[in-house]
Amino acid sequence: MKSLSSHTRPAYARISSVQRMLSSLLHPLALLAIGLVATMGGCSTNLATGERRLNFTSEAQEIAMGKQADQEISASLGLYPDETLQRYVHQLGTKLASTSERPNLPWTFRVVDDPVVNAFAVPGGFIYVTRGILAHLNSEAELAGVMGHEIGHVTAQHSVHQMATSQLAQLGLGLGTALIPEIQPYADLAGTGLGLLFLKFSRDDENQADELGVRYMTRTGSDPRQLGAVMGMLDRLSQEGGTGRAPEWLATHPSPGNRREHIAEIISTISPAPAGGTINRESYLKQIDGMMFGLNPREGFFKGNTFYQPDLKFRFDFPAGWNLMNQKQAVVGVSPKEDAIVVIAFSSKSSSAEAAREFFSQEGLTVLRTGSTSIHGFRTSSGSFTAQTEQGVVQGTVAFVEYDGRVYQLLGYTSQAGWGTYEQGMTRAIGSFDRLTDAGMLSMQPQRLKIVTIAKAMSLAEFHRQYPSGVSLEALALVNQVEQNGQLRAGQQVKRVVGSAVQ
Ligand SMILES: [Zn+2]
Repeated sequence: MKSLSSHTRPAYARISSVQRMLSSLLHPLALLAIGLVATMGGCSTNLATGERRLNFTSEAQEIAMGKQADQEISASLGLYPDETLQRYVHQLGTKLASTSERPNLPWTFRVVDDPVVNAFAVPGGFIYVTRGILAHLNSEAELAGVMGHEIGHVTAQHSVHQMATSQLAQLGLGLGTALIPEIQPYADLAGTGLGLLFLKFSRDDENQADELGVRYMTRTGSDPRQLGAVMGMLDRLSQEGGTGRAPEWLATHPSPGNRREHIAEIISTISPAPAGGTINRESYLKQIDGMMFGLNPREGFFKGNTFYQPDLKFRFDFPAGWNLMNQKQAVVGVSPKEDAIVVIAFSSKSSSAEAAREFFSQEGLTVLRTGSTSIHGFRTSSGSFTAQTEQGVVQGTVAFVEYDGRVYQLLGYTSQAGWGTYEQGMTRAIGSFDRLTDAGMLSMQPQRLKIVTIAKAMSLAEFHRQYPSGVSLEALALVNQVEQNGQLRAGQQVKRVVGSAVQ
């Protein structure tokens, strides 16, 4: 099945609002997935740190948990479709991990198809870097720093430890069931896969991961000072960050400025002092030459409250002022108060009638009205319903629309108390589904990074004039990690962004 999209907005932060929303409406499946592994407990000594910590999870369980999360992350965030780049990142990562205290984990390194600047790890040895962070890095050693740090979280079992702590909090809670399976993927996503991204590490854990990152970099001959350079990049991104690509890493990590100092301290205590180490700027830039940059409009994008999908050729107007998210499996709008949601997704059924029949026959769901209709000439089955959940009764409206060989599910729901407030807006949104005919929208293409080797020295501003980029001088300075008034030297490789951005 063709995926609906990936995010076109900094999405992780917003998913948490859906997560909160779902946990108030439905029982979060997070508890189910995490609760199941909470059967064995114990205290173990960590190989990387020598510490003893409370740990509910055996290594086999940790790996099983990681594998499941990996499937969900790969499906929900999407992997960047470039085998060569994926292999390069995986090989560099496994080289680092093979020098770690846990060389035998099923180490897996992936590039996530996401313009947001982020990197994260899940237990069991699964590590992800976004194409957004790759675009902002300028050498292999910087990438090694990012991955070494994430490897450190895994070898020191930071997230496993955190999960043990949250299991303790959740053991008292029973297991629930989602009444509306169509909504389940988001609950799942929030719970097992993406939920892990929100684990906020303590400052001590971060410092420890930096320390371990420096260790693995040194062991593989990379210049460990480049991890400090990454912190400099993140620091700058957090201060300037006007490029619409919020550095999500910062939401879960302490201030990069302080950590830069800490990294310098760690390096100064290594004895004997690491002898230089490799940086490999050119070979890194070669790997990311031609990589997609920023949002990919082919996966759908928002302008105002309207969602446009050029590949699937449809458009949809969400209620004005709602928070919008474009995910691989669905496009989601959440009301500002986070008490109502509208979701566009595919139905697995081949006709609208069949899809509606399946939806309305769910246990716990009371049908208020059903019928056949049409939206902009497309055959549609629709209806409204209430559903009993552990958190109370939800009320909603749904339409299954046949368009261009697919059946779309357009679903809106809120608490029963909220129905009066949201019914009209949700119904209007669902009725706005229409074919996309605007030629400009249909032909939008993603921007790409292009590496240019300049023959003579020039300023970044001159470079920007000579090789126009589809981004501002400020954004260009950020991705190249040079000052806006900075100078480039003869023979230097410089990133340029070709193509025009979604306005
Ligand atoms: Zn970290």
